[in-house]
Amino acid sequence: MKMSPKLEHTVDAPWMCSGCGYMMDACAPLEGENVAPETGDVSLCMNCGRVYWREGRSWRPITEVERASLEPESRRELTLAEFHRGRVIKEDLAAKPGRA
Ligand SMILES: [Zn+2]
Repeated sequence: MKMSPKLEHTVDAPWMCSGCGYMMDACAPLEGENVAPETGDVSLCMNCGRVYWREGRSWRPITEVERASLEPESRRELTLAEFHRGRVIKEDLAAKPGRA
């Protein structure tokens, strides 16, 4: 999984992962230029890798139907990220100064 080299992010309303309790207040695309999240986008908890679905202005756990609607490559990347429990993202952020 590739990360944006600049790791630009969008500040979001604080929210807590329902899987591990990790608090997040920003999101960033895995590649390409930073864009604000929109309904139907997916994201991962940076601590445990739980997958979330954007609905309006908030994130909620993705449903199986929504997951099945994703492109095969996106499903594959999400599965890998869950398997690694978000470590890919955490390790990238650990190499950068500042907060995500
Ligand atoms: Zn989590």
